[in-house]
Amino acid sequence: MQTYLKKTTLAVLPLAGMLFTAPIVSAHDEYQEHRAEHEYLNAEHQAEHEDLNAAHRAEHEELNAEHEAAHQYPMTARQHRRLHRRLNAEHRAEHQDLNAQHQAEHQDLNAQHQDYHDFNN
Ligand SMILES: [Zn+2]
Ligand SMILES: [Zn+2]
Ligand SMILES: [Zn+2]
Ligand SMILES: [Zn+2]
Repeated sequence: MQTYLKKTTLAVLPLAGMLFTAPIVSAHDEYQEHRAEHEYLNAEHQAEHEDLNAAHRAEHEELNAEHEAAHQYPMTARQHRRLHRRLNAEHRAEHQDLNAQHQAEHQDLNAQHQDYHDFNN
């Protein structure tokens, strides 16, 4: 009996972006300044997302390479299941890590944003 072992490629899911939008304020100068601050925060956020997505992609490449390497050798369906369980667990752990980093970055940006408003009010 021959078991067909499908090689799966893990999909890279981009992290959801969250953009700060500038509320409308009446004073023109204040609005310009506020907009500049928001643009700065958005740029920081964008850069952080690119970093996180790059880390995520690298992790997927590693997992896929590990998967590929394991498939060089014959294995039973049971061994294959075990391999995939391990790879999936590694993948999940990596996602938790990336999400925690992402969360921390958002809190940081929100704090910076809050500071800006506290200072300017
Ligand atoms: Zn496999
Ligand atoms: Zn992933
Ligand atoms: Zn984000
Ligand atoms: Zn603001």
